[in-house]
Amino acid sequence: MPTKTPIIALKVDVDTYVGTREGVPNLLGILERFGIHATFYFSMGPDNSGKAIRRIFTRKGFLKKMLRTRAPSLYGLKTLLYGTLLPAPMIAESFPEVLKKTEALGHGVGIHCWDHVKWHDYLPWLPKPVTLMELGRASALFEEIYGHRTSTTAAPGWTVSPDSLEIQDAMALDFCSDSRGTAPFFPVMEGRRYRTIQIPTTWPTMDELLGEGGITVENINYHYLTLLRPGLNVHTIHAELEGKALASLFEDLLERLQARGVRFVTLAEAADEFRRNAPDAPLAMGEIPGRAGRVAVQG
Ligand SMILES: [Zn+2]
Repeated sequence: MPTKTPIIALKVDVDTYVGTREGVPNLLGILERFGIHATFYFSMGPDNSGKAIRRIFTRKGFLKKMLRTRAPSLYGLKTLLYGTLLPAPMIAESFPEVLKKTEALGHGVGIHCWDHVKWHDYLPWLPKPVTLMELGRASALFEEIYGHRTSTTAAPGWTVSPDSLEIQDAMALDFCSDSRGTAPFFPVMEGRRYRTIQIPTTWPTMDELLGEGGITVENINYHYLTLLRPGLNVHTIHAELEGKALASLFEDLLERLQARGVRFVTLAEAADEFRRNAPDAPLAMGEIPGRAGRVAVQG
């Protein structure tokens, strides 16, 4: 049952080769110092981040966001060229020990994707067998590395389709975290109800907030505390940002949250706790402040 004490689940999206090699170990160190368990979602296949630059030309607002968040300095030039001028390196198979260590330290682990850029930019147009193959390849490698199947996935850029939800149901996952919203729910998309519970991200990400409405690195954590509500709060962070350039800001946030007495849970624990009372709710792709392009939003 929801209690008055705020509960927080940290969801970590791992998008890139460098984020896996450097950001994840940094985050593991930070979380260990605070005694907190999070849930990590790994990109299993190639790092095609350079292709994301295409969005400058195809998505309104992306260039503005790139400049506002200083993507070139945050992500590093090399990452921005992977898949274009430089070959796309394979992520999970390059660092299986990072993936294994994350689980060994008690964190939740799951699949973010096979190819982040392909899923994020093209999912609505992918034929169902291609979507199936993206998750299938990621699942096979996940099982090879961990020796067990994944129990959860979290879609890149909160991008879903009726096909992706159907495939996730067929994978018999315990829960998914593909959406933005207010509380756990069973998704109904385009009139069909799916049986895999969604644990939505309830907070805006740091890169969405910074530079919007007077929010700066000086006041962003104060702003986050004002967003705390009783019940479950889900905060998505990125190995590439909170695990690197924004690490000290993230540590400051954890200090403030612990001082507030919040209870940290993994997404699996949140799913167990909230499943029984979770309602059905519509899920559709829509726009949210601070982010270029559309995301899956709980209705
Ligand atoms: Zn991602």
